Amino acid sequence: MNHRYITKIEQVPGLSRKDRDAIQQITNQFRFRANDYYLSLIDFADSNDPIARIIIPDSTELDGWGATDASQENLYTKAPGIQHKYLSTAVLLVTDICGGFCRFCFRKRIFIDGNEEAVRDISPGIEYIKKHPKITNVLLSGGDPLMLSTERLENIIRQIREIDHVKIIRIGTKLPAFYPHRIINDPSLLDVLKKYSTRETKIYAMVHFNHPRELTEQALTAVNLLHDAGVITANQTPLIKGVNDDPDTLAELFRRLSFAGITPYYVFQCRPTAGNHGYTVPVERTFEVFKEAKRFVSGLAKRAKLVISHATGKIEIIGKKDDHVFFKYHQAVDQKDASRILIFRSNPDAYWLDDYAEQAVSRHG
Ligand code: SF4
Repeated sequence: MNHRYITKIEQVPGLSRKDRDAIQQITNQFRFRANDYYLSLIDFADSNDPIARIIIPDSTELDGWGATDASQENLYTKAPGIQHKYLSTAVLLVTDICGGFCRFCFRKRIFIDGNEEAVRDISPGIEYIKKHPKITNVLLSGGDPLMLSTERLENIIRQIREIDHVKIIRIGTKLPAFYPHRIINDPSLLDVLKKYSTRETKIYAMVHFNHPRELTEQALTAVNLLHDAGVITANQTPLIKGVNDDPDTLAELFRRLSFAGITPYYVFQCRPTAGNHGYTVPVERTFEVFKEAKRFVSGLAKRAKLVISHATGKIEIIGKKDDHVFFKYHQAVDQKDASRILIFRSNPDAYWLDDYAEQAVSRHG
């Protein structure tokens, strides 16, 4: 069954005229994109429906809060279409389109006309990877690489597989949630994945389920087809207000992912990206929700780390006690920071590491 992409808010059937008019202004600034499968998961009678929160624009997006590139990815762009931040991992931005646009997307700048961070011609990126033998992982991202034709995707994967030192290819994709039919209806895609996910060098699909209700029959079918093709799956989600910011929902997401063989991998502090004001939750509240969600789930379901994807590295939020919050570098750009622990005084209004940085208590190497 084919599904229709929906890019104009007036095409969304469940909204009132008043809602549509209000939303129209937002989409002038931050684009809207969905499809009829994903919209069918929304309960429009529920004004707080979490799936609607993910995909339907919200008036807070115009609050004038946040930065275009909150994690300063521009600092790590080494050639057109390639970012290299951590020694072993390179990111190729291969497309500027997704199956839908998450309202809280941290990279929504690339959907704006004129942005050229995602490229068609990946040859500069491939040359860069060839010259850097420490790169063992390449993440295909964007945008959603599964939006490319299978032929183009194979062409990219083949070129990466020809580089000996690259072992893992990751595909960052929300299509198992947004549009599982992309995977279900294309056996040739599965053939490609099977061919290049080898016994010793796997392809990983870094999937993006935010809420347990996205794990539909179709989504699970798509995930199982990926597994059958030899692809490993791991889930990344930001913690988003009104979507998964309560412990029961997050625990249920962790549980359902683990049941389906998807590793809960990262939970991200929502980045202070332009338009994200209404979606973000303060750091310490995020930590409390995350900690509480993990209390009643199995070890397999609690493998996720809670991290801030900061310009200086991936920084895990590891604890809070009395008046202090504890962080630890999980991945550091500067090796001097590797595994460094940061301790800050509690600041319940902090949304990002920088909101603490002025008042460091101590830093341990
Ligand atoms: S799938 Fe990822 S890149 Fe695409 S809109 Fe959502 S968060 Fe952004």
